[in-house]
Amino acid sequence: MSSSVEKNSQVARFDAEAIEVLGKRVLGPVLTAEDEGYDAERAGNQIARQHRPEILVGATGPADVQAAVEFAGRHGLPVAVQGTGHALAAVAAEGGVLINTSRMTGVRVDAAARTAWVAAGVSWDRVIHEAAPAGLAPLSGSAPGVGVVSYTLGGGLGLLSRRYGYAADHVRGIDVVTADGRLRQITKSSDPDLFWALRGGRDNFGVVTGIEIDLMPVATLYGGGLFFDFASAPDVLNTYVRWSADMPEEMTSSVAVISFPDVPVLPPPLRGRHVVHVRIAYSADDLGAGKELVAPLRALTPFNDTVRELPYAEGGTIHNDPAVAGSFESSTTLLGELDADAVRALLDRVGPHAPVPHVVELRHLGGALARPAAVPNAVGHRGAHYLLNVVSRLERADIADVGPAHDRLFDAIEPWSTGGRALTFLNGARDTGHVRSAYSPEDYRRLTEIKAAYDPENVFRLNHNIPPAQR
Ligand SMILES: Cc1cc2nc3c(=O)[nH]c(=O)nc-3n(C[C@H](O)[C@H](O)[C@H](O)COP(=O)(O)OP(=O)(O)OC[C@H]3O[C@@H](n4cnc5c(N)ncnc54)[C@H](O)[C@@H]3O)c2cc1C
Repeated sequence: MSSSVEKNSQVARFDAEAIEVLGKRVLGPVLTAEDEGYDAERAGNQIARQHRPEILVGATGPADVQAAVEFAGRHGLPVAVQGTGHALAAVAAEGGVLINTSRMTGVRVDAAARTAWVAAGVSWDRVIHEAAPAGLAPLSGSAPGVGVVSYTLGGGLGLLSRRYGYAADHVRGIDVVTADGRLRQITKSSDPDLFWALRGGRDNFGVVTGIEIDLMPVATLYGGGLFFDFASAPDVLNTYVRWSADMPEEMTSSVAVISFPDVPVLPPPLRGRHVVHVRIAYSADDLGAGKELVAPLRALTPFNDTVRELPYAEGGTIHNDPAVAGSFESSTTLLGELDADAVRALLDRVGPHAPVPHVVELRHLGGALARPAAVPNAVGHRGAHYLLNVVSRLERADIADVGPAHDRLFDAIEPWSTGGRALTFLNGARDTGHVRSAYSPEDYRRLTEIKAAYDPENVFRLNHNIPPAQR
């Protein structure tokens, strides 16, 4: 470590001795761009954009995080944080201190209290696995590889969300290192403002080292996918829109138009094909009604039907999101009620004639998502009916073509847009100007005021930034 500090002129303008002291204080690695292991340490699941920090700290626990934040504070550096690296939340995260939490892997399930305490580096698959023997499930999302802390504090829209609400609605406690370097263990009673802001404002107020979350008494789902050829898309999407509007809260679902690449890892029925994929996650004390609820969609004769009773631990197979690292660009908006005109507007711009390959997904909201959390938080736009998310893999499309193609799609669906967005699906590059749109104007103002109280210098700015209110 010390030799690279002397070699690296950028770092040398900081106090080399101080960096050396940091290296001794932190149990994990402290690296600069010239150190071996620097690229591996900052690598994440999303490879299109990555942090390129001046100082990279591989934190092993809260004390390492505190050391890194204090170092940044002393040297006027911004702080960024990365768990699994699924979604770099800044346009270009150059410079500053990056704290990699992937070594912070503690999970404690309390089956009697139906809670889990989860450290910052843990992804959902661990919690799902540890909770399952007690017949419990966390409010995890489509991809079990996504990080628990970032997903939850960004809102967290999961397989059980119409039944139980956002993951952020079920947080009991948060351990966070704030800009002053203090480790605070906060709850709704100890620090009501900060507790409100972190659940929905995510990375703007500190580095979260662990959270305590509720677990739900769910062992089994009636779930899976119904796959239709793109030729049936008008029928399937129109039916889905009418069908979903009538569903009970126990039914969480989404529909996606997917252009699958022609690659051998895919099974032949999907390879190189444009399909409509309805994703079903029905969770109720008695799953018996699931079959009848899904019947109107089955009547459209899918070419592949994987909907069955399955352990919650196999919930990742419902969406089958790619688990391997890759480059992607995405765009998102929240929608109101949909009708046949909305479906037509979408279908005009997706499928075989779309300018870039993509996954265009509509997630059904409402149910418990429409109600305020028992302990209010900053997650906004609870009145939205659907979330539209569009993802294009950059291995299959030129980045210069993706933005305009997504824009055309979003222009077409604009009449149905609420104008709001969900923080958890905001994209680093495309959505920096859109952070405000994740909140109501009043909540955004409150967030900027809480930011001014806890991070007046905007140390945590390499993210979907909420600037401190001007005093
Ligand atoms: C394939 C895929 C599927 C997804 N499915 C869903 C879904 O079903 N539902 C849903 O709601 N979202 C979903 N998302 C969005 C996902 O929840 C967010 O992208 C989330 O931020 C990813 O967190 P991470 O830790 O995995 O990624 P990271 O890139 O490590 O973190 C993302 C950002 O979160 C912040 N952050 C990370 N760790 C901390 C911390 N300890 N303290 C403070 N801030 C921190 C940082 O600013 C960081 O840039 C999905 C994303 C992908 C790529």
